[in-house]
Amino acid sequence: MKQSFSARLIIYLFSACLLGSVSGLTFADDEYNKKRMELIRVIEDDVRETSLYLDKEELDARVMKAMADVPRHEFVRKSLRSHAYENRPLPIGYGQTISQPYIVAIMTDLIKVKPGSRVLEIGTGSGYQAAILAELVDQVFTIEIIEPLSEQARALLKRLGYTNIQVKYGDGYYGWLEHAPYDAIVVTAAASHIPPPLLDQLKPGGKMIIPVGGRFMTQELLLIDKKPDGKHQTRQILPVSFVPFTREQE
Ligand code: SAH
Repeated sequence: MKQSFSARLIIYLFSACLLGSVSGLTFADDEYNKKRMELIRVIEDDVRETSLYLDKEELDARVMKAMADVPRHEFVRKSLRSHAYENRPLPIGYGQTISQPYIVAIMTDLIKVKPGSRVLEIGTGSGYQAAILAELVDQVFTIEIIEPLSEQARALLKRLGYTNIQVKYGDGYYGWLEHAPYDAIVVTAAASHIPPPLLDQLKPGGKMIIPVGGRFMTQELLLIDKKPDGKHQTRQILPVSFVPFTREQE
């Protein structure tokens, strides 16, 4: 069948648009991949510079691979995507932030997870830290106290294909008893003290990483080791600045 000139023009314009958007996507992905690799070098440098705090010169290669694989730009709103691979926290709405990549990397490294580990995170936020953990372990459970953030993160993690992360809306102070005990617990909001229910839900031999300190003070990142006899040992890692751990009644 012979097409009219206008029909051909429409087909031509449609194909041009389609090609444009497809190649546009590829270009953006390449750019993001390049920037992500540059970020990896920046994190490596920061780790070396803070090696006295961390007690090591470099992080576990598996952790760095997860940092290199997870597309951080997907976890920030479109208008901030050009900043997604800068080594700094970014706003995610509701007064909250996605943590600085260096901090995410060292927190993940310090808890020393293995493929079979079961990990609990308090403070889902954007879902980025949960995604990094999910690259490394079997099961990730994460709790967020702001309902819309929790829903957004759940939808995003599903869209990105993470089937080993369960997201719950609620106050993480009480942990998630149903799936306890955990090999590791990661708290990504600054608490005034270590919530006792979280310590209870940590396996003997497990590790918890948590920023502790007041809202307007410098906080300390603490690494807690629960010994096989149930006693725990705390190591101060370095001063940090996190959004506050809030409670349901606030
Ligand atoms: N891990 C996040 C960082 C988010 S900032 C990420 O990778 O993007 C910390 C988050 O902790 C905020 O979203 C905040 O709402 C949440 N939060 C604060 N107190 C909480 C609590 N008691 N229980 C669960 N989440 C809490």
